[in-house]
Amino acid sequence: MNRPLQKVTGLRCVLCSAVYAHGEEEYTCPRCGIEGILDVEYDHELIARTFGASALEADRDLSLWRYRALLPLPDDVVPPRLQVGFTPLVEAPALAKELGLGVFFVKDDGRNPTASFKDRASSVGVTRARWLGRKEITCSSTGNAASSLAGFAAEAGMKAFIFVPASAPEAKIAQLLVYGAMVFLVEGLYEDAFKTCQASVEAFGWYNRNCAINPYLVEGKKTCGLEIAEQMRGRMPDVVTVALGDGCTTAGIWKGLVEMKRHAVIDRLPRLLAVQAEGAAPLARTFARGDERIEPVEANTLADSINVGAPRNGIKALRAVRASGGAIVTARDEAILSWIPRLARATGVFAEPTGVAALAGLEVAIEKGLVRRGERVLHVATGNGLKDTRGAMRSVGPPMRIPPSLDAVRQALESSK
Ligand SMILES: *Cc1c(COP(=O)(O)O)cnc(C)c1O
Ligand SMILES: [Zn+2]
Repeated sequence: MNRPLQKVTGLRCVLCSAVYAHGEEEYTCPRCGIEGILDVEYDHELIARTFGASALEADRDLSLWRYRALLPLPDDVVPPRLQVGFTPLVEAPALAKELGLGVFFVKDDGRNPTASFKDRASSVGVTRARWLGRKEITCSSTGNAASSLAGFAAEAGMKAFIFVPASAPEAKIAQLLVYGAMVFLVEGLYEDAFKTCQASVEAFGWYNRNCAINPYLVEGKKTCGLEIAEQMRGRMPDVVTVALGDGCTTAGIWKGLVEMKRHAVIDRLPRLLAVQAEGAAPLARTFARGDERIEPVEANTLADSINVGAPRNGIKALRAVRASGGAIVTARDEAILSWIPRLARATGVFAEPTGVAALAGLEVAIEKGLVRRGERVLHVATGNGLKDTRGAMRSVGPPMRIPPSLDAVRQALESSK
């Protein structure tokens, strides 16, 4: 049941600019193949008749569905019962001072139902799949998109088929199994999981939730940008920092911010600082070169959610960062790890390695003069620290063991002085 949606004018290919009608192509541009990522385009004049700052002020729905006017679904669609979005901002004045910034905010997206940003995409993607009457859904992922899809598929009563690299953190695999997905631990890298999943989609006809391939998922991810705009209205940051893997998150946040400017909720846009790990930085290289040629690398970083050697949505991300006047920088794994306790101690927000990667990158950007003294920065912490306790433990070292005696406590206190 693919009813036409008046507010969607079409889906445009990022490579050849061909436009397809809503419902004509579900995934990528048939002319350009899998690289031909589509982008959903809207009739913003039509949307503006009901959507804008005052409509938002009157809306009591504190989830991403408050932005349903800007989502590619009918306004009366029934959303999942799991609440996603409208995640809190935490201000960290001490960190701002330490870094020489004017203001520093963290958006705590690890508070979503399956504990990562990916819930934004799953919530919208599963709702669309259900609207299309699909019963089976699949994705490949470094871990978070998978555990998120498994959760939303469970809620919707759909069967999920999940492909993750065998090296994915245990907590993320546990989520998959608990939610009852059929899990394929693929021997190899994320790229191998992605290809195996694509082949299965073609063979078995499952609905494909791979974020880069499925244009509707970026629409879910853009709600983070919509929220930043609404929550920071009148005090927009100069810079938004986020970790960059496939590129859907970066591209999505930018799309949301731009739409909020289009609808006059904000009057200025921040620059994007997108951060890759040094061991998985194909887009940082493309950015530095100034073109759109993306050369895959052998990815190797402990920030597993951005351990992506062949980004699937790189062009959208590059265009977003460039349009914003921002930059893509890289961060070393040790620097990323050191930010786990640093962020947690300064704000109470416990993030997985990828959730702090952009903070290690922020320090690099400050050194390079890409972010200047006194600027206002908002960081998106995209995943919860409990997702990867091994990474967290590496960032702090082992705890002290003692015999059960007060003497032992005294001794330990003494030696820790
Ligand atoms: C997926 C993910 C990212 C990066 O998103 P991309 O769309 O792959 O660039 C960042 N942080 C976390 C926690 C993620 O799971
Ligand atoms: Zn095309």
